[in-house]
Amino acid sequence: MRVPSDSHSHSKYSHDGRVKAQALIERARELGMEYFAVTEHLDRDYKYCSGERLIPQLNLKRYYNGVQKLREKYQGSDTYVAFGVEAGYSPKTTEYYLGELPKYDFDVIINSIHTMDGGDAYFGKIFEGKTQDEVYNRYLDLLYEAVCVPYEYDIIGHIGYVTRYVKFEEYTLWQPKYFEKIDRVLKAIIERDKTVEINTHIRHAEMRYLPEKPILQRYYELGGRNVTFSSDAHLVESVGHRYEEVSALAKEIGFTHWTVYKKRKAYKIEIE
Ligand SMILES: [Zn+2]
Ligand SMILES: [Zn+2]
Repeated sequence: MRVPSDSHSHSKYSHDGRVKAQALIERARELGMEYFAVTEHLDRDYKYCSGERLIPQLNLKRYYNGVQKLREKYQGSDTYVAFGVEAGYSPKTTEYYLGELPKYDFDVIINSIHTMDGGDAYFGKIFEGKTQDEVYNRYLDLLYEAVCVPYEYDIIGHIGYVTRYVKFEEYTLWQPKYFEKIDRVLKAIIERDKTVEINTHIRHAEMRYLPEKPILQRYYELGGRNVTFSSDAHLVESVGHRYEEVSALAKEIGFTHWTVYKKRKAYKIEIE
């Protein structure tokens, strides 16, 4: 099956990337993509984390120069290679991103939450001694803050990130007690005309993608139409991962197009 677009991937420029950006792009071309974005981690939020291993910071200039060469190489080809970043949100990073992001002509900026109050959900430590309500309410408040940041961004990354790593019995974020906060987030996204990604980089017994289906349905119900497919690939074989499943889901809900960004401008690609 052809995969028309993929808005989220990581190469070796990211601290957790394993492969060269060119290898990811070549795989995207094999899958017939007309749009493929490399979006390295810009984890300035980690500067404010303590107690966990320090994440090496992205050298934006080096990354920019490397991707420029690839952009030139693929210019005029069937695949648009987008230069992007995934900026990790923390209440303390705003000034930093306000200064740094405008310095480069990014195609796309993803705004994601990985850390909460000084720890990454990935390591599970942030959940110790906390109830589910404490963790989820805090996450949803931070998510709302992230949506409302004054710096530039286009896509809101993996809504529900914390649910990937929790050990709570009922992992879902889609519970009546959180509806109000979820609505507040979705409405803020719609008001700002931002895009929700459907992210398939997930290792979980039941979840196959984020956000969960009822959240996507609610987003549609409230009038949200901007969605994009994101494999969040860190490996060549993960490019376009679960596209078939996610495109069927998106169409079932009612979405007709993927939104992708070139030079920070939105374009629509029909969902196949
Ligand atoms: Zn992420
Ligand atoms: Zn990512």
